[in-house]
Amino acid sequence: MGEPLSSTGEHLLEIRELKKYFPIKKGVFRRNAGWVQAVDGVSLHIGKGETLGLVGESGCGKSTIGRCILRLLEPTEGDIFFEGKNISTLDPAGMKRFRRKVQAIFQDPYSSLNPRMSVGHIVREPLLVQGLHSGAKREERVEDLFRKVGLRPEYMSRYPHEFSGGQRQRIGIARSLALQPDLIVCDEPVSALDVSIQAQVINLLDDLKQEFGLSYLFIAHDLSVVEHVSDRIAVMYLGKIVEVAKDTELYSNPLHPYTRALLSAIPIPKPQQKKKRTILRGEVPSPINPPAGCRFHPRCSEAMEGCSREEPVLKAVNDHHQVSCFLYP
Ligand code: SF4
Repeated sequence: MGEPLSSTGEHLLEIRELKKYFPIKKGVFRRNAGWVQAVDGVSLHIGKGETLGLVGESGCGKSTIGRCILRLLEPTEGDIFFEGKNISTLDPAGMKRFRRKVQAIFQDPYSSLNPRMSVGHIVREPLLVQGLHSGAKREERVEDLFRKVGLRPEYMSRYPHEFSGGQRQRIGIARSLALQPDLIVCDEPVSALDVSIQAQVINLLDDLKQEFGLSYLFIAHDLSVVEHVSDRIAVMYLGKIVEVAKDTELYSNPLHPYTRALLSAIPIPKPQQKKKRTILRGEVPSPINPPAGCRFHPRCSEAMEGCSREEPVLKAVNDHHQVSCFLYP
């Protein structure tokens, strides 16, 4: 591992050359038989008050990035900076502050809430753990959080199973807001919800962002989900970022063949309007032994000679757009 890099502190969160490999253990002696290269050299940043959408198919490594940011996983290589400080070198006081400032909302509102706790206690718990507020002030704060996410404080004594999926996700959001965070890692927060409820939860997250000046890392497998919440979007394929652009730019001028294929898969509301659909060839290759050269080349309809040998790097095509593809020299 090289020397840890330093951050300019310009961004709220900065990820530099992040790698996360998982060992594959085999045999009676659990010998290491290889590595799953879940994240392989990813650099990203999120500004204050900004939402970065992170999109890619299942297994591309996007949730692993979220878990490394939350320090639920230790990176194999690379550095993550929050407010200019390397989170792997924080002292206990710094780590306590980091845990307060960076929160998470997970995909499955059914399993992320403790079924034996009342929902009031679930939202109150972070305040107790961090020793914030006491007595009536704490209860006032919990009630206020319920109102903020569109739930009645009278529900506080009920248990998670008494709520619908959308309501449970609102409870998860209230819990994530309890400590007044600056950044929330939203890991597929609407994927497990009915389509009719998804828009309500996305609108709620957007309103809360405006009200509290929050930043989000919004992880999703579908470009249509992140469209309305993101300021910038990063597209990920097999452990690497292949394109990053401002939201409007990505949807109006997608450059990477993989981004174009993902966009062409979004259904359009007017059935009479024809849309050219790009069908991706084959399956996503294994991250245990990713293809040489451009990792997308076995599925790319525009692959050229050299794409299977050389690996493209992420390069700026303008101030708001980066792509990793030989089509854009
Ligand atoms: Fe396709 Fe080549 Fe671009 Fe990779 S580098 S996306 S294979 S054209």
